[in-house]
Amino acid sequence: MSWIERKKTKQITVGSVKIGGGADIVVQSMTNTDTRDIDATLKQIERLHKKGCEIVRCAVIDKDAASALKTIKEKSPIPVIADIHFDYKLAVAAVESNADCIRINPGNIGSFDKTKEILKAAAEHNIPIRVGVNSGSLEKSLIEKYNGPTADALVESAYNWIKRIEDYGFTNMKLSIKSSDPKTTILCYEQISKLTDYPLHLGVTEAGSSMEGLIKSASALSVLLRQGIGDTIRISLSEPPENEIDACYELLNSLHLRKKRSIDFVSCPTCGRIEIDLISLVNELKKRLSDIDKPVKVAVMGCVVNALGESKEADVAIAGGRKFGLIIKKGKIIKKVKEDKLIDEFTEVVHEFVKKEY
Ligand code: SF4
Repeated sequence: MSWIERKKTKQITVGSVKIGGGADIVVQSMTNTDTRDIDATLKQIERLHKKGCEIVRCAVIDKDAASALKTIKEKSPIPVIADIHFDYKLAVAAVESNADCIRINPGNIGSFDKTKEILKAAAEHNIPIRVGVNSGSLEKSLIEKYNGPTADALVESAYNWIKRIEDYGFTNMKLSIKSSDPKTTILCYEQISKLTDYPLHLGVTEAGSSMEGLIKSASALSVLLRQGIGDTIRISLSEPPENEIDACYELLNSLHLRKKRSIDFVSCPTCGRIEIDLISLVNELKKRLSDIDKPVKVAVMGCVVNALGESKEADVAIAGGRKFGLIIKKGKIIKKVKEDKLIDEFTEVVHEFVKKEY
């Protein structure tokens, strides 16, 4: 039995990608190019796809962006979601441009009649919608009732929207409840997953960049994923979107939910026993091995104290010594190499390993 029992949700299909209902957790990101610049947007989608992005979202800010979506969708190697705020007409235009899914926050679309127009168009084209709720678009009445955009307020809003949309006869949807606070995010998804079976898109919004963004996202998403909650994820970072894909895979790989599409690095934190410049070594190896899209486990250890034990768990490892390094493959020492040749030799050994094993 898997250590994580995924919650069984309804399955929807975005383009060719299945979300929910036991499908693998889908990795997604959002372009930050101007969607009207078709060429730049497609180039970025191609880079995201190469990293392993499975669904991409593009902001549709006006009519021109909605029509650009038609070509983007035709040429994109992965399904394209149109991200709409405020204007239901743009959502309808994006549906007509053959978007694979429409993301809306019903709370900022205006009257429900406008949302109905979006649902009608989506139903006619047989595409799903993502219903998003966040503190920015939360109804005033709920903010007053709960004294702020609390988890209870967000969940009540999401639940009300689901019911209204279902009452209209539309059920082809997934949900997201976004907060920039990891604790609120956890509470929201824990509650909503008990209330509905629609697939859930997980993410911490406006998480920030580098360390704070990664830790905020990982703290909330790990707690939820461990409970089997979540069918698709985005790790929002104030960084190039390609980094979001790396982060998603790193997290899913850490929880044994998906395999990475790059080297799985293990390296020691260094201590007073270190005899080699391990930090530069790891940084350089990350660059040199960045072309590898297989989850080879590579361990880089500063000395032999832990290296031989750790290397048994790794495919290929280095144990640093005084001006030399041992190269270890599947737990067996295969070479002793001088420090100035270590990066070249190790890179070669890893590439050979990939050729042979994959
Ligand atoms: S592997 Fe060696 S250098 Fe690295 S932390 Fe452990 S004891 Fe220290």
